[in-house]
Amino acid sequence: MKSLLNTARLTLLAGSLALGTSAHADTAANNNLLISAVAWKQTAAEYKALYYQAYNLARMQLDRALAGQKSGDKPLAVITDIDDTILNASNYWGYLINNGQDFFDDAVWDRWVPRNQFTAMPGAVDFFNYAKSRGVEVFYVSSRDQGDKTFDYALGNLKSLGFPYADAEHVTILRESSNKEPKQNEIAQHYNVVVMLGDNLNDFRRKYYVKNVDERTRLMEEDRELFGSKFIIMPNPTDGHWIRAIFGDSEPPATDANRAKFREAASKSAWQP
Ligand SMILES: [Mg+2]
Repeated sequence: MKSLLNTARLTLLAGSLALGTSAHADTAANNNLLISAVAWKQTAAEYKALYYQAYNLARMQLDRALAGQKSGDKPLAVITDIDDTILNASNYWGYLINNGQDFFDDAVWDRWVPRNQFTAMPGAVDFFNYAKSRGVEVFYVSSRDQGDKTFDYALGNLKSLGFPYADAEHVTILRESSNKEPKQNEIAQHYNVVVMLGDNLNDFRRKYYVKNVDERTRLMEEDRELFGSKFIIMPNPTDGHWIRAIFGDSEPPATDANRAKFREAASKSAWQP
């Protein structure tokens, strides 16, 4: 019996060796670190519902602020991030999966953005148009860098999907830094900022820009009262500074060492019976 099993094992081994590199490539493709996160982004109704939830909450806060506004107060405004907050790049992530890429890839992103294949996140266009209808201005603050045309691309993305205030006064693209705080403070000098929307803690405050997983969590806990009131946060399981906190890099190379690091992060706490 044992020798029969051994023979079967040897046959299986020989078969898999005979399959050669294509079998190896298939295994690598199926072990892609992005698959679960991108499948969720592409298919889960729950993912879309979270955006409706976020925008419904933002609208409640806006209505509350409008009801409490007194004459002489600063005008109301909303500040929002762009990618993964109001714009969806599903098609880009699908491309990465088909090309066996395990992490956000800047070079592909820079080729993809000018194609303008974004879609609007559920509830986003309605919320911002509602804000406009109530006289509330919207400021878009994003860090992107696709060269000299970065601003034009972003403006084109927003205009083609029907976002209001898509103009030079309301759209800020930070090519050199992901620090949004100076621009946010400048806006707050002239407006009462009701809510800020983002998919990355760093969209709200620069203090979250740290490379330590536990420290990030601790800083977030300090502001727990602000989530759902001043800060409206969107889900993003594929990229962002939570990735940077694990790897020290927002776009880590897909090396075996980084695969091991991701596995370690996923089993940070694990049942040991
Ligand atoms: Mg974003």
